[in-house]
Amino acid sequence: MSHNAIYLDYQSTTPLDSRVLDAMLPHLTQHYANPSSPHQPGRRAAAVLRTARRQVRESLGARHDAEIVFTSGATEANHLAILGAVAASRRTFASHVVVTTIEHKSVLAAYDQLSAAGYSVTTVPADHNGRVSAADVAAAITPRTALVSVMYANNEIGTIQPVAEIAETTRHYGVLLHVDAVQAVGAVDINVSSLGVDLLTISAHKIYGPKGVGALYIRRGTRLRPQYAGSQEQGIRAGTVNVAGAVGLAAALGILVTERELDARRSARLRDRLAERLLAALPHARVNGSRAYRLPGNLSLTVPGVDAADLIQALPDLAISSGSACTSGLGEPSHVLTAIGLGAAEARATIRLSVGRYTRDSEIEYAARRIIAAVAHLDPQAA
Ligand code: PMP
Repeated sequence: MSHNAIYLDYQSTTPLDSRVLDAMLPHLTQHYANPSSPHQPGRRAAAVLRTARRQVRESLGARHDAEIVFTSGATEANHLAILGAVAASRRTFASHVVVTTIEHKSVLAAYDQLSAAGYSVTTVPADHNGRVSAADVAAAITPRTALVSVMYANNEIGTIQPVAEIAETTRHYGVLLHVDAVQAVGAVDINVSSLGVDLLTISAHKIYGPKGVGALYIRRGTRLRPQYAGSQEQGIRAGTVNVAGAVGLAAALGILVTERELDARRSARLRDRLAERLLAALPHARVNGSRAYRLPGNLSLTVPGVDAADLIQALPDLAISSGSACTSGLGEPSHVLTAIGLGAAEARATIRLSVGRYTRDSEIEYAARRIIAAVAHLDPQAA
């Protein structure tokens, strides 16, 4: 990839907002003390951490600061939520868990661990638009169910799930609900209290914050077994807390409170223009995922006959992705695309374009022209 490639991979990670960096810098350079230390600089770091926690709590609409636990990112938060909640389940004979077919690999990996440990796992399908229904979740729940995980919005096809409705269902049955909101929080104003979820995961680097920091919302009263021992984060998540990272996450969320809607409108307009250009020139191309319930910055496009890896290779001036950054390069077709009914060849012929806060109109026009030209070169039939 050339150095100044046009960046159309906001779902993989976002650039750091300079306002977030400014907020973080003093905590990397001057105020570096360990927030668990008893001396004055340590107490000051602890106060900074308290403020960051309060800000994250307010941005998510949580009721208590203690409901927010900082982690090293969403992968860790998802594992902590899933393995921790199931291990501490109050339900007698809890031996069953429910997950959707289109979750992020970090969620599916935790469910694989549960399966290996003897839990029975029910996978709830998504329809051909990538939507999961509350009725299907309800049908999967049994008296032995300890936990349900449903992602808020998908990282490959951008589909947004009916989380409030699903939360009503899980509450009705008294089953815990874990929601991976990593992709949604940049576009959807989430209030965890009114939404009724028990556990919710976010990550800073998908919302213009730094990589390597995230948070888990844990509704008060939800019991969670820590994954390793230590006193930090109320004993739930051991390890020296990344104070600068927590400040960055809080700042990134704070910016969203005032700019989320503007970001979403701009992104949707740019995404729609890109889709329009590409679909007009590539008559066989298809958009994957629901049009109505969709992240504003996401465009998942299948161009039959054109291998996504070849297309990406032919476009060194664009930063675009096949299915998702996490599955690309493995040679396996994306589990999300196959779960919504694409064949292996179609899944391999799928690219993900994602736009965001810093995408410009001129970049959309350029990218559309380049993609169309590259498709025509690779497969004249497709263009
Ligand atoms: N969940 C979803 C939906 C994601 O898109 C990602 C990032 N690809 C993660 C979890 C993992 O996040 P992190 O990089 O913070 O571990």
